[in-house]
Amino acid sequence: MRYRSTRGELTADAPNFSDILLAGLAGDGGLYMPESWPKISPQTLREWRALSYPDLAAEVIALFTEGAIDVDTLRHMTRDAYAGFDHAAVVPLVEIEQDLYSLELFHGPTLAFKDMAMQMLGRLFDHVLTQRNRHVTIVGATSGDTGSAAIEACRGRERLSVVILHPKGRTSDVQRRQMTTVQDDNILNIAVEGDFDTCQDLVKAMFADHVFRDEVSLSAVNSINWARIAAQIPYYVRAALALGAPDREVSFSVPTGNFGNVLAAWAAKQMGLPIKKLCIGSNRNDILTRFVIDNDMSVRTVEPSLSPSMDIQVSSNFERLLFELLDRNSTRCAAIMREFRETGRMAVPHDAWTRMKDVFEGMTLTDEQTSEAMRLFYNESLYLADPHTAIGLAVGKRFQEPGTPMVAAATAHPAKFPDAVTAATGIHPKLPPHLSDLFERTERYECMDSQIAGLQDAVRAHIKRA
Ligand SMILES: *Cc1c(COP(=O)(O)O)cnc(C)c1O
Repeated sequence: MRYRSTRGELTADAPNFSDILLAGLAGDGGLYMPESWPKISPQTLREWRALSYPDLAAEVIALFTEGAIDVDTLRHMTRDAYAGFDHAAVVPLVEIEQDLYSLELFHGPTLAFKDMAMQMLGRLFDHVLTQRNRHVTIVGATSGDTGSAAIEACRGRERLSVVILHPKGRTSDVQRRQMTTVQDDNILNIAVEGDFDTCQDLVKAMFADHVFRDEVSLSAVNSINWARIAAQIPYYVRAALALGAPDREVSFSVPTGNFGNVLAAWAAKQMGLPIKKLCIGSNRNDILTRFVIDNDMSVRTVEPSLSPSMDIQVSSNFERLLFELLDRNSTRCAAIMREFRETGRMAVPHDAWTRMKDVFEGMTLTDEQTSEAMRLFYNESLYLADPHTAIGLAVGKRFQEPGTPMVAAATAHPAKFPDAVTAATGIHPKLPPHLSDLFERTERYECMDSQIAGLQDAVRAHIKRA
């Protein structure tokens, strides 16, 4: 399998999976995409029903690593990566009410779905860097959950230095402490004055500075890294198989921020999984829902909400869907993205938008509606959902169609957002044992403004120290 950029052509020396894993973002500023979608036949899907989750994940990811990493090596990694999850099924599917399911993706070490991909990413990096005898510096922006998942997956790995930027004061205390209490030398946390988009822009600017990028061997673990998306496809396959695929259609509802998780579901559909609808759930930062409803992709300022991991306006991964909607015309894709960056408004051609509408639905919940949803699912189904998951479930319920199971991605454990959950339901969710002393641990992080030069110096100093 070879890869190309959303802003460039497939070249003669096109990179393979290991190359793009380390590169993260393409040199032209675009995102890497597989040269074509691998197809999974109904026959293969039936055979995969019997596999454990780790073994299924290895089979799915192998379709993207072909020519770089073989399935046996992957199976070794997936078994190791998911062994530490605190549920035997890894990704249990819980029936909330008739034909409405919660796909729990939060049983990993940091209690959010980011662990699903990140636990694999840490191992993939180790494997490829050892093979190539290299060291890289990972710089990532987080709205809260990516950072802790990346830190947990990379801590103590000698071939990786990790710098995570989070928006100062905009993550929950649990989220921040999960990052800042990790004391390994290869980890640096920076609290940036600004919002998530400020952090993400800083990361992009560091990648755009090619001298700096080469100097520190910059690499990315944000969901702009295709390996993240690849590692998120298997759980959609697992859920669909459990509900009757390939012989029955399934719909998914995904609380969405950077568009990575729902894009993985869309990729599964391209690969042959019988997915009917993909429903995007938003909080008041609803650029994606406005796009689905009105073809209005215009950036507003980010406002804090009860679901901080979705407090995003510029959803990086949307570029991958745009590229597909433009029939993989990278010239048009690059032009539209350039204009979007300059004007804050994305002009998606009407026919492309119409095709998107065949599959996607979108809905926004205010904070009040999110609390109401948490209360409702608790009162009626005794299901304690975090604010992100509650949005997913509420949106799923709204777009449910008779006879088609609707699966909502449960993206965080309720204990990750205890204040919102307690206020809505009266139940105080407890942290699992491995995190019970989180508030007694010592924090360590730097605070910085959004000046790129100072940040680059901090990255250099961190590498030297480690
Ligand atoms: C990251 C995150 C999201 C948003 O996922 P995207 O892939 O960025 O769309 C939703 N919920 C939680 C809890 C998250 O951590």
